[in-house]
Order: sequence, then structure tokens, then C-alpha cells
Amino acid sequence: MGIGEQITRLQTVFESIPPTSIYWTIIVCIWVEYLFELYLCIRQRRIYFSSANKLPSPLKDHMTLETFEKARVYGIDKNNFSIVSEFYGMIVLTALLHYEGLYKGWVLTGPMLSGFGYWPATWDVEIGRSICFSILAMLFNNTVGIPLSIYSTFVLEEKHGFNNQTLGFFIKDFIKKIIVSVIITSPIVGLIVKIVQAGGQYFFVWLWVFCFVVLMFLMTIYPMLIAPLFDKYTPLKDGPLRSRIEALAARIKFPLTKLYVVEGSKRSAHSNAYLYGFFNNKRIVLYDTLIKGYVAETKGKDDKENKEKEEKPKEEEKKEEEPKKEEKGCDDEEIEAVLGHELGHWKLNHVVKNIIISQANIFVIFCLFAFFYRNSALYEAFGFPKQSDMPILLGLIIVLQFLLQIFNTAMGYLMNVLSRLFEFQADAYATELGYGKYLKTSLIKLNKDNLGFPISDSLYSAWHHSHPTLLQRLSAIDLLMEKSK
Ligand SMILES: [Zn+2]
Repeated sequence: MGIGEQITRLQTVFESIPPTSIYWTIIVCIWVEYLFELYLCIRQRRIYFSSANKLPSPLKDHMTLETFEKARVYGIDKNNFSIVSEFYGMIVLTALLHYEGLYKGWVLTGPMLSGFGYWPATWDVEIGRSICFSILAMLFNNTVGIPLSIYSTFVLEEKHGFNNQTLGFFIKDFIKKIIVSVIITSPIVGLIVKIVQAGGQYFFVWLWVFCFVVLMFLMTIYPMLIAPLFDKYTPLKDGPLRSRIEALAARIKFPLTKLYVVEGSKRSAHSNAYLYGFFNNKRIVLYDTLIKGYVAETKGKDDKENKEKEEKPKEEEKKEEEPKKEEKGCDDEEIEAVLGHELGHWKLNHVVKNIIISQANIFVIFCLFAFFYRNSALYEAFGFPKQSDMPILLGLIIVLQFLLQIFNTAMGYLMNVLSRLFEFQADAYATELGYGKYLKTSLIKLNKDNLGFPISDSLYSAWHHSHPTLLQRLSAIDLLMEKSK
């Protein structure tokens, strides 16, 4: 018997599984995973409660007990929030499955498409309905998520001094996000359906190639066309910091073309730095919140401009209060060290490795999709009547999101393990360049500025963290510095 026949036989076996069994297996899997995550959450919660006033000794010289306590309270609040929001998400998801939300959503797309009246009569109806469905799903997800994101931004983050968004900014941002996603997703969804329809037996290979092209395309246009729609990017002005970064780039032959500062402070007080770009066209982006004094300086300028327009006594009061605040952000040497780390990711090909792994993963997923997507029992499990249409997009959602849920979770865990390894490697790279000392202080400062809590439950951390903990990183850098002495 050839491989083809064996596959067909296996497919028939799967087709004979009763839809209710599929339905209940999926529900049980989803809840088991949820309960496991809840268990981890509670373990981490115990750490927060049991470590009151127990500042770890390596941080004693760098962090006040007051900051440590602030971070602990912030951690507890985030933990509470995630317990509530995860539970809410589970209720929504279970209700969606119970009330056959996918099927009902698909039924809605029929009148939606004809109501639109713009879909050319000669075009494939399934493609049009699939695009409608993707828009519906996006609106549903966003609407369901609004209460959580409002709470997170205006209550949780606000309480701990991180939120810088106004309600107006939040609403504008929300609407922009939906419009941009619809513009980007619609043609992609349409083309995916078309490829599955027309690709023949090996359509999944074409689908895979298509996804790679789309990924490359989005990675190219995102920073240039999409990101600037949401945030302001300004070139870093000439000065000691710029010269330092340029010298570092030249030293390790990094083809730096642009150096930007992004006004992240409009959103939140959290800080970061990253680099992107292909081949010889690389850009570095620094958050304004990363650079010590940068936000205050630009804000000071704005204040002055405002004053010239209209003199308000209130603003003066504000200005007097500001210098009292503890200054956030890193010094020039530390920013250079942070970039040493980021450039380590580039030098060690971490981005390329990640792309290769995710492409391999996508290929496996598409093969499985090709195997399952004509299985009518699967559609029946999600509420489709017997012998009804089996829309491709819905098959994709059912297989990718629900059937492969455990596979995806396992992949997510493995990717975190790999990401932590890459972080250690990038730290080691920066340390070898001679930035060990400043990398350590910058990590401590960033952790402090972001109110990261330095103690984690080992299992929670192994499962969730894409970065090693602060203490793990500090001791790894120490070890390397000892060795090189
Ligand atoms: Zn990193």
C-alpha cells in the first residue's frame, strides 16, 4: 500500500469519529490547559505574597526596598488581572463553542456579502464570505476585549504610574488598529482561500510559500508604513549618544542606516529598544523612555511652546513638581550596552533562526491542515449541519486553533526555551564586547523602571518567560566577566 492510500485510509478513520466526541475532546483540552495555567498563576501569586520585604541580596545596592515593594504590589495586581481576564476569556470561548458561534458567524456572512453589494458576480462567493467572516471575527474579538483593555490601561497601569494614554488617544488608536488590520487581512484571507481552491493536491506547499512571502512583505513594510501610523519616530539627534551608537555599529560592521527614537511615552512609561531591517538596510529604534532625560527634555520644550501661546499658572505648578520624581531611563554607556545585546541577536543570526523555525512549524501545521480540512465530522463538531458546505477558512480556524491547540502550546513552550537561550547568548556577546558592567546596571535599571518583580516561581518562569529572570542574567554575566579576567 502506498503512502497516499495509507493517508486516505487514516482520513476515513478520523472521519468516523463522532462529532460530539471531537467537540468534548476539544472542550476538555481547552479547560485542562486553562487549569494548568491557573495553577502556574497561583504558584507565582504565592511568591508575591511570601516575599514581602525580601529584597534579593544581589540587588541590595541597586534597588530600594520601596521600589521592590512597589514592584511586588504591581505584580499582585497584574496577577489578579490575569486570573480574572483568563477566566473571562474561557467563558467567552466556551459560550462561543456551545452556541455554535463559528457556524452562526458563517451563516451571517451570506447576507452580509450580498448586503454589501460590491462583490462582483463573477468572483467566487466563498472568498467574499471568508473576507466578511474575518472582519466579523476581528470585530467580535476586539469588542469582547474592550472591557479588559480599558481596565488594564486606565485602572491597572494608571494606578502604577505607567499609563500615559488619554481616552481620546485610546479610542483613536483602537479604531485605527481595526481599520489597518482589515486592510491587511482581507486580501491575505482571500488569497489563502484561492490557493487552497486552486492549488491541487499539494496546495499546502503553495500555501506555505505564500505565507513566507507575506511574512517577508509585512516585515518590510511594517516598520516603514504601518508603525508610523501609530507612533511618532524621529531620528536621534547628533550628540554623544548618537556617536557612541554609530561607533559601536562600525566596530562590529553592523550596516546601520537609520537611528530613530520612538515616542513610546505617549502610550506608557515602559521602555525598550529594538532593531530591524533586511540585508544592508538596518535600523535601530530606541524608546524615548529608555533615554534618561529625553522625555522630560522634549516635554519641557512642549511646555515652553504652550506657555508662549497661553500662560497658565497650573502648568508652572506641574513643572515644579517634576524634578522631585526619581529620574527614569539609562545613561549613554548603558544604552550602548543594551544595543550591544540587541546587536548580539543580529550577529548570532537569531532572527534568521527564528524565521526558519517558524517556517518549519508552519509547514507542519499546513500538512496537518491538508490532512484534516475535508473531514466533515470536524465541521459538524462546530455546529455545521451534515453535508453542508465546508468553508476553507473555517477549516483553517478549526484545525489551527482548536485541533492543534496542544501542539501549539508545546511549540510556544519550546520557543520560550529557545528564546531564553538566545537572550543568554546575546548577553554573552555584549559582555565579550566589554559591556558587562553597564549591561548589568542597565538591566537592573530597566527592571526597576518597568517595575519588574525580580523573584519568580521556577515553573511559572519556565513556562511563560521569553527572557531569563534578572537574577539569572546578572549571575551569567558575572560568571563571564570572572572568566575573562
Ligand atoms: Zn534580547
